[in-house]
Amino acid sequence: MRDRRCARCRKTTSPNGAPVVVVAVEDGRDVYACADHRQELASPTGDLLVTIAQYQDMARRRRAGR
Ligand SMILES: [Zn+2]
Repeated sequence: MRDRRCARCRKTTSPNGAPVVVVAVEDGRDVYACADHRQELASPTGDLLVTIAQYQDMARRRRAGR
């Protein structure tokens, strides 16, 4: 099962209740972060892979109806 948690604090949602988002891709795995740790964990290069991973993640959520 996909580990959709903040890579730093292991929470599945941000303090405001929004779900964690993909902020980086490491070794082919999506790295998620809450709002508090997004800046800290974000890929410094603003990687195209990250952008693609974010779209894929959103698409999966839509299919799941969440
Ligand atoms: Zn966090």
